[in-house]
Amino acid sequence: MKSNHRDDSSQTASSQTKGVTILGSTGSIGVSTLDVIARHPEKYSVVGLSANSRIETLFEQCLAFQPTYASVTQPRDAKVLADKLKSAGLNTEVLVGESGLSQMAKDEGCDSVMAAIVGAAGLQPTLAAARAGKRVLLANKESLVMAGSLFMDAIFENGAELLPIDSEHNAIFQSMPSGAVSANADLLKVGVRKILLTASGGPFLNTPVEKLSSVTVEQACAHPNWDMGRKISVDSATMMNKGLELIEACWLFNAKPQQVQVVIHPESIIHSMVDYVDGSVMAQLGNPDMRTPIAYGLAWPERIDSGVSALDLFSQGQLTFSPPDFERFPCLRLAYEAMEAGGSSPAVLNAANEQAVAAFLEKKIRFDQIPLVSERVLGAHQSQAVTSIPEVLEIDKQARLAANQLIETLS
Ligand code: NAD
Ligand code: MG
Repeated sequence: MKSNHRDDSSQTASSQTKGVTILGSTGSIGVSTLDVIARHPEKYSVVGLSANSRIETLFEQCLAFQPTYASVTQPRDAKVLADKLKSAGLNTEVLVGESGLSQMAKDEGCDSVMAAIVGAAGLQPTLAAARAGKRVLLANKESLVMAGSLFMDAIFENGAELLPIDSEHNAIFQSMPSGAVSANADLLKVGVRKILLTASGGPFLNTPVEKLSSVTVEQACAHPNWDMGRKISVDSATMMNKGLELIEACWLFNAKPQQVQVVIHPESIIHSMVDYVDGSVMAQLGNPDMRTPIAYGLAWPERIDSGVSALDLFSQGQLTFSPPDFERFPCLRLAYEAMEAGGSSPAVLNAANEQAVAAFLEKKIRFDQIPLVSERVLGAHQSQAVTSIPEVLEIDKQARLAANQLIETLS
């Protein structure tokens, strides 16, 4: 992961600054990334920005950061944005669709790519960044869940750098010995016994289970500690987010599912830990604010100001821990099962979950039916080896079809 391939001659955005492309710049992670970049104009310049539907926000970001490219999903939005940019006197080039995102990700002026699109839509442009040997700042955990082995191969074969932005994985990365994160990482050889993946438990950690059937979208999206996009907020409420993160940790750190212990830690101050064979446990702590891992990923191996305030342990007072409840949170169990089964199973779980979450957000199914959809679709799937991205995409498509059929019967 920490390949030595890059040298400073790749800095083409300007002689002083590093060029950054943000895939999904209008989302929660995208906005936080721009906040960090804006604090360091002498270090970073923006090469590309992108939005799915918030075109006005994208336009404002273009005005503020003057990127080379701006990419949108729909051709009609591209026309609207291009006209507005022209009237504002900017020569930002407007790109469209997946090919536009991939073009921005591999542009030679771009050194680092923040992969902050939500869901499976992030896979191809994130892969394009890996294949182009960029520093990949990975927030889009779905890329690893869908195509972990192919994605890691793309990183190592192309001399790319992979820096985890998910706060837990960033914490694990910071707590690992440096030699542990490479193509042939062997956790035991570097003295790592376990990864302790912390989880807040979300808004329903203590809600009576029978009440989960009447949970509203607003309740599910109201995370106690983190301000995030709607999909990941619902995933946090079902703990599927922790399940996806378990799979993500296995790929990033070459760990087996049994080597990753989920620890409920409702305060979200310890962002995860590494347990060593000599009894040492290394942890990374901080206020729950994604600008910390984002700044870490941008500047690694250096440190820069992120705008996050210092952790006040005295006002925090207490940190608490408990084991996860697999009955209350079946999604977490499903993720362990999918990763144990390997091959296509994590991609199937991810696709079924995305469809189920979308259906819940559209009020087609109940909150407690989200795990049901994933469980049934995964249960009906025979895991198979995946050897190419087109195969992954076909498996993803079939799983979505199966999930949608089931959702129709439930809604
Ligand atoms: P969000 O919903 O706030 O933003 C998503 C971004 O993706 C937006 O810019 C949107 O325009 C873009 N997008 C959505 N669908 C798209 C499509 N089909 N094609 C192209 N672009 C599309 O999401 P977020 O909370 O910022 O999360 C982004 C990613 O980061 C997710 O994978 C999430 O799991 C991960 N992540 C987020 C947080 C967090 O605190 N928000 C923490 C850890 C990991
Ligand atoms: Mg996380």
